[in-house]
Amino acid sequence: MKKKYIKYLRWSILILIILFITTESYLHITQGGGKSPSVHALCPFGGLESLYQAFTTGSFISKIFAGTMILFGITLLLAFLFRRSFCGLLCPFGAIQEFFAKIGQKIFKKRFIMPIKIDRPLRHLKYLVLIITVFYAWKTAGLWMSPYDPWSAYAHLPEGLGSVWEESAVGLILLVVTLIGSLLYDRFFCKYLCPMGALYGILGKASPFKVVRDELTCINCGKCNRSCPMNIDVQHSQEVKTAECINCQICVLECPKPGALENKEGPKALQPLPVITLVMVIFFGSLLTFKAAGVYTVLPTRLTAGETIDYAEVKGYMTIKEAAEATNTELDQFYKTFKIPENVSQETMMKEISKAAPGYSLDEMKKALQN
Ligand code: SF4
Ligand code: SF4
Repeated sequence: MKKKYIKYLRWSILILIILFITTESYLHITQGGGKSPSVHALCPFGGLESLYQAFTTGSFISKIFAGTMILFGITLLLAFLFRRSFCGLLCPFGAIQEFFAKIGQKIFKKRFIMPIKIDRPLRHLKYLVLIITVFYAWKTAGLWMSPYDPWSAYAHLPEGLGSVWEESAVGLILLVVTLIGSLLYDRFFCKYLCPMGALYGILGKASPFKVVRDELTCINCGKCNRSCPMNIDVQHSQEVKTAECINCQICVLECPKPGALENKEGPKALQPLPVITLVMVIFFGSLLTFKAAGVYTVLPTRLTAGETIDYAEVKGYMTIKEAAEATNTELDQFYKTFKIPENVSQETMMKEISKAAPGYSLDEMKKALQN
């Protein structure tokens, strides 16, 4: 297949993933969480946040399901086999940044490169973000960073800007900073802030997969450097070993000299199309296999008639009335137990009580009831 068609193929996959996640997020907001999964359930970072709880209690933190853990596991496998392929070939947030970078290049007619003195220290920031987010997620056993998460802010945009601002002002600011930043500096969030990129980068160091340059064949045209969204100096490397490489395949596809730049999985050379195909087969093939086996779940199990749940299992998408029935509690008593102000309608979703009663947090209430 011609290189330009492989580039189209990569973009087609990424656009389909963006559309899928955006649609699911919209349905989750508009139809309630019982029908469509939340963005947290569909993001592998949720698996990392829930890992400690899964090991210690066998359950998952709120909004995380077995499917999220499976997704997390598959992306770890991909990191071992093909480095940060999830970032370069599958991540919708990464793709949106690349899309904005393309618009930026059209507007400004050039690619900006962050000065190295600023770029170097900033690249380490994502490892700090990884440590802090995982530490607090494990300590609080919850999605504590959701209000600061730009991807979560993006997924909640169907609620309206005002609502997103109220619930996650920092996440919304970071989303705007990321998109504007990406107009100037490609993959702004991936380079500097993404905790999952940091984790995949560390694991990818153990991968036998690398982009390798043949010094004798290379004509030093510099196209690889100019095209790399992560600004890696491919042109002067023998092997791209850095944890920054997202295996997007762009440099290999842009290289005009056959044999100058190729992928190596151990001793075996691989063309871009087989690399992209293998990543897709491993990722989607595994997900479909787990789904067929009935273990890939990203939605809460529906209650059967007469079945009841504990207070800790009350979900944000349930109305107050549904939650009272599900926990087998008289409505009045449920209001008292969950400290819900009387003026809040029983048809209000649990996650939306905070709109009528600012400061109300379902997660905190459930934790208080557990203690
Ligand atoms: S080195 Fe090549 S594969 Fe790695 S991020 Fe840069 S362009 Fe993509
Ligand atoms: S694009 Fe290919 S030929 Fe040009 S500098 Fe990079 S490796 Fe060498």
